Amino acid sequence: MTERIALYPGSFDPLTNGHLDVLSRARRIADRVIVAILENDSKTPLFTVAERIEMIREILKDDPSTPVLSFNGLLVDFVKKLGDPVVLRGLRVLSDFEYEFQMALMNRKLHPSFEVVYLMPDEKYTYVSSSMVKEIARLGGKIDELVPAPVLNAIRKKIQ
Ligand code: ADP
Repeated sequence: MTERIALYPGSFDPLTNGHLDVLSRARRIADRVIVAILENDSKTPLFTVAERIEMIREILKDDPSTPVLSFNGLLVDFVKKLGDPVVLRGLRVLSDFEYEFQMALMNRKLHPSFEVVYLMPDEKYTYVSSSMVKEIARLGGKIDELVPAPVLNAIRKKIQ
């Protein structure tokens, strides 16, 4: 049987429990899920790409079916390079849908065999985003239920 490979691209600045929820659901539909961090992101990140890779590898260290990579340039070019895996994205709220719908159609225009599958997290993660987590941490709020422990420690260090 051929291995079903999926690609989960994003900023992951930083990875949250919402991302982990999507990954745990993804394991039901793919044998291997590659987490891919976009390098040329227009947003100013809190963590460097190398820091994000290290943190996510540490969090996923017991799961050899989830390698962590980074990529530059267009998602469709990276998808082609990897042999056309299905792309996974998470959907939380309606505003995610509008953005994702437009991106999916544009990616399909650029690469007709581009395919994307959307996964919805447990409802308790629908309001969790990396940017919200960073903002709450900056303002001194509690984020320990929103991110895994290595991320919590790394954010504390950065923000101090
Ligand atoms: P991007 O900048 O590409 O949106 P993110 O790291 O913010 O990168 O998100 C990567 C993917 O994970 C996106 O599809 C996003 O919708 C999804 N995602 C982020 N947070 C959550 C969450 N709490 N629940 C479900 N999906 C999420």
